[in-house]
Amino acid sequence: MLSVAGAPSSMTEYNMPCIFCKIINGEISSYKVYEDEETLAFLDINPVNPGHTLVVSKKHYANIEETDEETLCRVINIVKKVGLSLKKNLSVRGYNVQMNNDPVAGQIIPHLHFHVVPRTENDSLKLWPQKEYKAGQAEAVLKKIKII
Ligand code: AMP
Ligand code: ZN
Repeated sequence: MLSVAGAPSSMTEYNMPCIFCKIINGEISSYKVYEDEETLAFLDINPVNPGHTLVVSKKHYANIEETDEETLCRVINIVKKVGLSLKKNLSVRGYNVQMNNDPVAGQIIPHLHFHVVPRTENDSLKLWPQKEYKAGQAEAVLKKIKII
């Protein structure tokens, strides 16, 4: 991401104000599901299923690694609250929590957010395709990423 010295942290690449910051400060309207001092949850404008909710930190962080632990815990707790509300009030028996971390992973809006997507038995959504490890591949990748 490009960064401009001295630019506010809610300015994204090409110096465009962040759309989620605009939602948080009320410049753009949203369907608010939950709000507290640090967190906002609102309906995704293009839902995977009705009730698809985005949970964001009010402070602008681009991704998970940028976000301090306390904020991350707070946001995840609100994800849990939203999930409970979907289960209770939409009578769904489960939901997906998705976080696209960085553009290569599909993140379009560079402001920390978790998708909470209610699921039904018949919504015909498929999770991403999985592969098998080739011989030695699991050991090789484990050696690289193991946290000691
Ligand atoms: P991501 O690919 O994880 O960055 O997802 C961004 C999400 O933001 C997409 O699912 C969009 O549908 C959603 N979105 C974009 N603009 C708005 C908006 N103004 N209000 C609500 N959701 C939005
Ligand atoms: Zn932002």
